[in-house]
Amino acid sequence: HGAAGNATEGKADELLGGLLAPGMDRRSCRSRYESWRYFKHFPYAPSRHLLRALRAYEARHRRCAPGTPLYAEAVEMLRSGRRGSAAAECRYVVWLPFDGLGNRMLSMASGFLYALLTGRVFLVALPPDSADLFCEPFPGTTWLLPHQDFPVANLFGLGVSPEASYTTLLNNKKIAAVVDDDDDTAASNATAAPAYVYLSLGWQLTDRLFFCGEHQRAIGKVSWLLLYSDLYFAPSLYAVTVEFRDELRRLFPEKEAASHLLLRYLLHPSNPVWGLVTRYYHSYLAPATRRIGVQIRMFGFGSIPVDDMYNQILACSRQERILPETDDGDGDAAAAVADTDTGGKTTAILIASLYADYYERLRARYYEHAAASGKSGGVWVGVFQPTHEERQATESLAHNQRALAEVYLLSFSEELLTSGMSTFGYVSSSLAGVRPTILLTAHGHKVPKPPCRRAASMEPCNLTPPRGVECRARPVDGDGEEDDLARHVRTCEDDGDGVKFF
Ligand code: GDP
Repeated sequence: HGAAGNATEGKADELLGGLLAPGMDRRSCRSRYESWRYFKHFPYAPSRHLLRALRAYEARHRRCAPGTPLYAEAVEMLRSGRRGSAAAECRYVVWLPFDGLGNRMLSMASGFLYALLTGRVFLVALPPDSADLFCEPFPGTTWLLPHQDFPVANLFGLGVSPEASYTTLLNNKKIAAVVDDDDDTAASNATAAPAYVYLSLGWQLTDRLFFCGEHQRAIGKVSWLLLYSDLYFAPSLYAVTVEFRDELRRLFPEKEAASHLLLRYLLHPSNPVWGLVTRYYHSYLAPATRRIGVQIRMFGFGSIPVDDMYNQILACSRQERILPETDDGDGDAAAAVADTDTGGKTTAILIASLYADYYERLRARYYEHAAASGKSGGVWVGVFQPTHEERQATESLAHNQRALAEVYLLSFSEELLTSGMSTFGYVSSSLAGVRPTILLTAHGHKVPKPPCRRAASMEPCNLTPPRGVECRARPVDGDGEEDDLARHVRTCEDDGDGVKFF
């Protein structure tokens, strides 16, 4: 497993080693061409297979996108309710929004990966709260679903288990799993594939059978899939079928690179968001020689008093040597600090949090005490926090733009301290190409011990993997298969129920 600092480190170019296709309009999406100047780590170059797969994907997307005759045909089939022909040239995954921004970015990356694995076209249905967050990712075409004209009603309000959800269709015998080729004919004679299937893959995991090979074969025959998820389900695709596993190996020879490359490929902040990011970066973060991103998220189920959380941050920082230590009023140490040649090193600490408390405490800490120099940073420490929104407001575009700006500002750090079980933090680490130190969640409102753990990889955790799902087709049976799975997918550092690539 290559870490930051391996052979590809520092060899960034504006198209990220061919990850991004050339020839897009620079002015309409400045971040796409400028972000490489801000990222500090380039731990993984894209594999040649990934580059080929992306270029082939882009060509398919252009052929099938809204505005093309093939798209019109596919929508017409959906409208008329005729069965999707297995031979249909264009098959789609339509991403639907669910949950906060971090969750959405991760389900987008997972949905796009699924489209890559299955030869589908990835479209997004964006409500007004997300209309101006991201640029178009694919050259010469659009990924926006024209949802006003889409023949499925109430697209943003279907929720966890609508009529068309895969499990409901199975229960009502409107679709049948396909175990082998004999079955295949039997199934297609008995039940025509429905015009579309809704995949409810959020934390409730209503359609967990999605993660079985025999169900993938049934789903593969459907032209339109509506994806409703707030999860990073990529690691759970690895064991679904031999085809998925082999293709994932070719796309990402180093599994740790999956979300890092997918997110840097797919998601580019729109110009208004990029304005927030770059103005803030140049005003406060650029002057420092080193940036430490600190992301503090407090969930209702794991809330503790601010002072306890602050002490957890300090204990973690001491354990993992992250934030510069202070002399804490000790005269000798202060003198030693004053004498030390800092070599002009300065540290900027960027705080992302809904609340101002941690910023205020940390700022006071470095105001009232001198920072000790040494490996953990220079004597001059600045503490910055762009916003404190007080509450999540996912229905507001401006709020989401500020949240996205902070995700990117965090991702421009040399080092990251993030909160456990937070997708907001996961996305920042993946984008940054940094294995974060993760603060553990205060389950039962008890201050966790140890306070934090170093992540084994920069990959996000799939917080709700399909545990205990009974599959008939078992791709991971057989000698060595379980070992292979154990080498690439492990339990998350911050969540014993979750799994991640490493
Ligand atoms: P998660 O709940 O931590 O997994 O992350 P999500 O991004 O899915 O949802 C949390 C939402 O709360 C974010 O999308 C923001 O809208 C808001 N939020 C949480 N933490 C922050 C923060 O540090 N800064 C800003 N601006 N918004 C935040």
